[in-house]
Amino acid sequence: STSIVWFRDDLRLADNPALHAALERGGPVLCLFVLDEQSPGVRPLGGAAKWWLHHSLASLGERLRERGAQLVLRRGPAEKVVQQTVQDADASAIFWNRRYAGPEREIDTALKQELRARGVEVASFAASLLFEPWTVRTGAGTPYSVFTPFWRACQSLPAPREPLAEPTEIRGAKHRVASDALDDWRLLPHTPDWAGGLRETWQPGEPAARERLEQFLTNDLADYDRARDEPAAGATSLLSPRLRWGELSPHTVWHETLAVAEPAASTHRFLSELGWREFAWHTLFHSPDLANQNWRREFDAFPWPPLDEQALSAWQHGRTGVALVDAGMRELWHTGTMHNRVRMVVASLLTKNLLIDWRHGEQWFWDTLVDADAASNPFNWQWVAGSGADAAPYFRIFNPELQAKKFDPHGEYISRWTAGQLASAPIVDLRASRGAALNAYDVVKRSK
Ligand code: FAD
Repeated sequence: STSIVWFRDDLRLADNPALHAALERGGPVLCLFVLDEQSPGVRPLGGAAKWWLHHSLASLGERLRERGAQLVLRRGPAEKVVQQTVQDADASAIFWNRRYAGPEREIDTALKQELRARGVEVASFAASLLFEPWTVRTGAGTPYSVFTPFWRACQSLPAPREPLAEPTEIRGAKHRVASDALDDWRLLPHTPDWAGGLRETWQPGEPAARERLEQFLTNDLADYDRARDEPAAGATSLLSPRLRWGELSPHTVWHETLAVAEPAASTHRFLSELGWREFAWHTLFHSPDLANQNWRREFDAFPWPPLDEQALSAWQHGRTGVALVDAGMRELWHTGTMHNRVRMVVASLLTKNLLIDWRHGEQWFWDTLVDADAASNPFNWQWVAGSGADAAPYFRIFNPELQAKKFDPHGEYISRWTAGQLASAPIVDLRASRGAALNAYDVVKRSK
């Protein structure tokens, strides 16, 4: 009888343990995706993420169809919708790959119990992380709060498993189950259609993700360690949205990277960036309220001044008059991504020079990044703001001018995104605001 594979953040056929398990079981398979904007605590997707999801689902649906299976799309609170689908499909088993954010875990745990009580076989698998959060523990049995020992501990665990092969044929369920039409979900922007830059920049879907991985490994990995910090160099993998939506598994990236014999420094550096992704999820798993709550609670005493709406808006729209910051914010608006070095610089300017609470920046990134995820985004914002796990020391306030000199020495990145058009003068005095930020931090230090 029918097995359901519930796709979530794993929009791929290759190395998909849930799909693999359903196929091993032998009966017909029904594939399901649920758009859940209603369950308590589940954070509604941002605009850029919805754009990506639309195209990635279209690609997945087509690939499933080619292999003989249907992708059923349903919308609503996942717990209810999944139960209903099990009933509609008369399914006797359901498989999924695990999620690690708090509200999603609650849904999955509840469903597991309810479905098992009804005699439905339920199994879940590790697919989105190389090292599941609870498997990495300090000697004292606690979670890690510093990256280097965390990553060392990961490496002493059994190596990530080899990726599973992509199925060539999937026997679909005989009777069709009602599905929404993807277009009816209105995930794409309409009026205005701001997604032109996204369309120019990205091709969502598993085949393009694989292609991008291969290109990166062939052309860019060797130089990664040297050039990864230069925003104009195009030296990084651009895999983050693909990992976010699971068009590629980290296992595939891991093993394919190790299979190319490149200089150890580049390989190690690249794999350790995947390690930061793991660490962000480890941190979220143990601190589920990471997007709202300071990870270091002493930062609750930080004396944020009343919100300066004008300054926030200037930052959002790339009109601060600080060249590297405006370039980054315009890159983000146009493409749905921003180079990592520049993300750090714009976040530092917002939280330290403009003294705007990191949550405002996190929310803007959530809405505009194609790779925004529940762990990496708040984790990195808190890292820059100083309130996060293994955060940069507060007094390391990025100077955007020095950063530009060092990492964009010919001004290539800046002129690509600003075309020489800056607001006349910076809206903030970098030196004076740095002093004000350090004074504000004194309050945190005193409250400890
Ligand atoms: P590469 O340099 O090729 O790195 C390879 C992969 O490692 C990335 O695809 C990503 O999956 C992972 N990675 C690298 N750096 C980090 C990091 N610091 N934290 C977590 N994973 C990392 N990354 C996201 O995936 N989603 C986010 O929402 C996000 N928000 C961020 C917010 C701020 C304020 C900052 C400073 C960083 C943020 N990052 C986020 C991390 C990083 O900027 C992006 O992962 C990276 O720029 C993606 O480009 P890439 O794929 O070419 O990276």
